Amino acid sequence: MSRAKHVPQRQCVACRQVRPKREMVRVVRTPAGEVRVDVTGKVSGRGAYVCPDNACAETAVREQRLQHALEAAVPEAIIGDLRAAVGRGAQSPGRS
Ligand SMILES: [Zn+2]
Repeated sequence: MSRAKHVPQRQCVACRQVRPKREMVRVVRTPAGEVRVDVTGKVSGRGAYVCPDNACAETAVREQRLQHALEAAVPEAIIGDLRAAVGRGAQSPGRS
């Protein structure tokens, strides 16, 4: 079962499915305590991962999974960023 290349895997905080890290949307709490959506995957800090799926994003928000994983409050603006990030792959952005 060994593969030639190791692909980093992360678990979704909502559905608990494990997927390649690069496919996930990362939310990070920086060392300064700021919570943000990290589209580059390079921001240092404590990360939480969500599938690029609206249902997972909503579950993560509704059930406070991100807050729990990050041990920090997630501002409304960041929730908006998360929704935009997960929606990008599945549907065209509908923002005015
Ligand atoms: Zn998920």
